[in-house]
Amino acid sequence: MIRLYNTMNRRKEEFIPREPGKVSIYACGPTVYDYFHLGNARMLVVFDMIRRYFTWRGYTVNYVQNFTDVDDKIIARAREENSGTDALAAKYIDAYFTDAAALRIQKATVHPRATENIAEMRDIISGLIEKGLAYATEGDVYYAVDRFAGYGKLSGRSTEDMVAGARVDPNPRKRGPMDFALWKKAKEGEPSWPSPWGPGRPGWHIECSAMSLKHLGPSFDIHGGGGDLIFPHHENEIAQTEGYLDGKIMARYWMHNAFITINQEKMSKSEGNFFLIRDLLKKWSGDIVRFYLLGTHYRSPLDFDGEKLVMAGKGLERLKTAWRLAEEGASRPGGTKTDLRAAAAAARRDFTAAMDDDFNSAQAYAALFDLAHSLNIAAAAADALPAALTEAAATLRELASVLGLVITPEAAGALGAEEARIAALMTLLIDIRAGARAKKDWPTADLIRDRLKEAGLVIEDTPQGARWYSAP
Ligand SMILES: [Zn+2]
Repeated sequence: MIRLYNTMNRRKEEFIPREPGKVSIYACGPTVYDYFHLGNARMLVVFDMIRRYFTWRGYTVNYVQNFTDVDDKIIARAREENSGTDALAAKYIDAYFTDAAALRIQKATVHPRATENIAEMRDIISGLIEKGLAYATEGDVYYAVDRFAGYGKLSGRSTEDMVAGARVDPNPRKRGPMDFALWKKAKEGEPSWPSPWGPGRPGWHIECSAMSLKHLGPSFDIHGGGGDLIFPHHENEIAQTEGYLDGKIMARYWMHNAFITINQEKMSKSEGNFFLIRDLLKKWSGDIVRFYLLGTHYRSPLDFDGEKLVMAGKGLERLKTAWRLAEEGASRPGGTKTDLRAAAAAARRDFTAAMDDDFNSAQAYAALFDLAHSLNIAAAAADALPAALTEAAATLRELASVLGLVITPEAAGALGAEEARIAALMTLLIDIRAGARAKKDWPTADLIRDRLKEAGLVIEDTPQGARWYSAP
């Protein structure tokens, strides 16, 4: 039985799908006006992990993640880059798939784009106007928040709080302070589409209502996103969809991940303290970044500094080493004593229990490390039954893969062709340097290290041997 924390009810609940054996998930995807940063990556990796786990548990998962490709930020950035909004969005959607692949984020079942669903948005807006839940004024359309009784139920905010927040941005065309735009009148030089209320473009919130309803229908299983989307974005999605569906619920469960902090402050684009994944990948592999992101339960805040990635790299290396030693041990005959099947079964049981309990990937890591520990001991003693070693190694590999972690040599596949070539060269140079050091040929060893450093490739000597990274 899988239990998950439902933001709507503020407690862990048993997951009961809308249809047996199937899970429908909608996660709010990126606004494609820039490369994505580590804070965005946490949400993407967390929901990718959740999706993989459901799949492993035998569910058929329909996972929808949108791209917001029309928005104020996109329009502003297109002007800066002297580009059209379509070309700008296409560029950052391509970049999204490149960076996501490095983090082993699988493609969603569908990646709908806002601009391809304008007709669906117009239909919902028309329906809301007919029901008296929205009004058109001077080419804009607003949602009449005080007409929707359930407003505030997800965030648990009081009306006074929400009104006070909304007063920050007064707008004379709105009837109520909390009313929000469903349709924005076209402005000179901005992309627009025809509508019964005049040319314009959709508001951000209506995009997700339209795309989730189109691809998943009413009352789908899980709506996900970063915790900062609870208010107002998800509150507004609920008002739109549930108002349009005459009270039928939008989603059965609402899941939100906590954010990443740097020195205890939230990582965000607007605060200017963020790390682009693209930049982190120059120094760290996508596997290490992913390992770091899943090392903390998704609802706990995650603080970032470079040291955490060093630790993540070591953790991942421990799993890889255990698997490799077990594979090597299994090819040596003679072991008859240690039977690792019990350890493998325990790891499988503990892993499943941790993940069933609100996708506790941090706890699941403990099961992986326990098994790795047993493998190391057995490999060192060289007394294990070869077949049991093979089975335990396969279990370690399988459980890691459920989290999207690859601990076998094919991990090189996460690198681009160019990076893989550099990695192969570096392995060669590190081996030559190790040979020089073994012969106490320090000038050669230092020459290799110094010349590589000049080229931006840093070799570090550690107790586990030399490792390298690209200098930032
Ligand atoms: Zn959304």
